[in-house]
Amino acid sequence: MSKTMKAMTYYGANDIRFEDRPIPTILAPTDAIIRMTKTTICGTDLGIWKGKNPEIEATAREKTGEWTGRILGHEGIGIVEEVGSAVKNFKKGDKVIVSCVSRCGSCENCQKQLYAHCRQGGGWIMGYMIDGTQAEYVRTPFADNSLYLLPETLNTDTAVFLSDALPTGHEISVQYGNVKPGDDIAIVGAGPVGMGCLLTAQFYSPSTIIVVDMDDNRLEMAKEMGATHTVNPSKEDAVARILEITGGRGVDCAMEAVGVPATWDICQHSVKEGGHVANVGVHGQPVSFALEKLWIKNLTITTGLVNANTTGMLLKSCECSKLPMNKLATHHFKFSEIEQAYDVFKHASETKAMKVIIEY
Ligand SMILES: [Zn+2]
Ligand SMILES: [Zn+2]
Repeated sequence: MSKTMKAMTYYGANDIRFEDRPIPTILAPTDAIIRMTKTTICGTDLGIWKGKNPEIEATAREKTGEWTGRILGHEGIGIVEEVGSAVKNFKKGDKVIVSCVSRCGSCENCQKQLYAHCRQGGGWIMGYMIDGTQAEYVRTPFADNSLYLLPETLNTDTAVFLSDALPTGHEISVQYGNVKPGDDIAIVGAGPVGMGCLLTAQFYSPSTIIVVDMDDNRLEMAKEMGATHTVNPSKEDAVARILEITGGRGVDCAMEAVGVPATWDICQHSVKEGGHVANVGVHGQPVSFALEKLWIKNLTITTGLVNANTTGMLLKSCECSKLPMNKLATHHFKFSEIEQAYDVFKHASETKAMKVIIEY
């Protein structure tokens, strides 16, 4: 076996390279090495590429005194190539879904199911603090707690959404936003996570689902996936339109799934008294919080990184086709074409890309 593999590596703002890297090896007895069969690009990866996360390089330099780049990606499926001596649940040859969140399972935060903040080297680390899935092989720490067996019957494009987009939408927007039967909700941002919000919100039977996005193509897709109303803020005042749809009241839950000041503003100004603003977007700059208007409204505001503690449940829902995520897999590329895939995903409004699937 050759000792190198191809990987997409981040070196700094606007500098990613498709290059040869050493094949990862087992470092801890709880590790597994996965040979990837499908991966994808997340909006978060585009953010890293643009330079939103300078802490990646800073942390690497602090820990090891050097910076050799970081392989991107925290989503995908693959086949177990090798397991460490302490891994009990998986063996070579198993087909698995890689979760974007790794968890030791025993630290104080893991015991509270706050896996995103695992204190023993877990949390969101892949494609961030350690090398990720946009490679031929990936090392996954805490394999027993961080991988899911891929059922033979599950569509493999759908499976890719279980790494991140679906659990993030469900946990950080829908669960934290406390969506209930009969609620009016607004989902601001119709990317893959926003679509995850849209589909999983329907578990809880809201009566009105307003999806807001600048891209008409994405709004069209949202309608097909169950949105009752769509709003394009480049054509109309989104807050005014949401208030109009809801009889002047605003929504019970506004979900922010973009991560820029303008979309945050739509959310904070369109939620009604006693409602929830559930922020899921990764913000790269400060937003204003209109406390002078909102102090009186009995709101809750939630933020968070996915814990992936509902991934197992979502996997079962996908298996019985309750969540047809594969319809959102608009583009397919070979792994050797990953640079092209980045280009297409980066220009999603022109290319009509929702999720790009990369096959090996
Ligand atoms: Zn992601
Ligand atoms: Zn932990």
